[in-house]
Amino acid sequence: MSFPIKFPIMGACQCGQLTYQLFEKPKMVLACHCTECQKLAGSPFSVTAVIDTAAIKFSGEMKEWIRSADSGNKNHAKFCPNCGTRIYHYNPADMSTVKLKLKPIMPEVAELFAPQVHVWVSEKLSWYKIPDDMKCIDKQP
Ligand SMILES: [Zn+2]
Ligand SMILES: [Zn+2]
Repeated sequence: MSFPIKFPIMGACQCGQLTYQLFEKPKMVLACHCTECQKLAGSPFSVTAVIDTAAIKFSGEMKEWIRSADSGNKNHAKFCPNCGTRIYHYNPADMSTVKLKLKPIMPEVAELFAPQVHVWVSEKLSWYKIPDDMKCIDKQP
């Protein structure tokens, strides 16, 4: 980046009742092409920013939905009960990070949330082309 990012970075759901402050850049950003992510994103893939749990503060009401992953892990999903925006996922067996789905929209921080790797490429929709120089993983990282 050619200029310093000012923290905290703010994020908000579509209706605006749920907001967050993010105090650090993501540890990692990945694009997931699995069919579950296709459903939740209404899009060919979903972008997830892995965030240190201590580095983000949420404010507002959230509801939770729990899904069992193929690995046997429980995937807890937080969403806005009003507008339905998916906020983040977490694994109760490892609370050290949250998988942030709702990204900030300010253009000056967009590069921080650009995917570094594409995963579950085995389930990718045929019409979507991943850039040639991108790191790809067939299944789970
Ligand atoms: Zn909302
Ligand atoms: Zn996925």
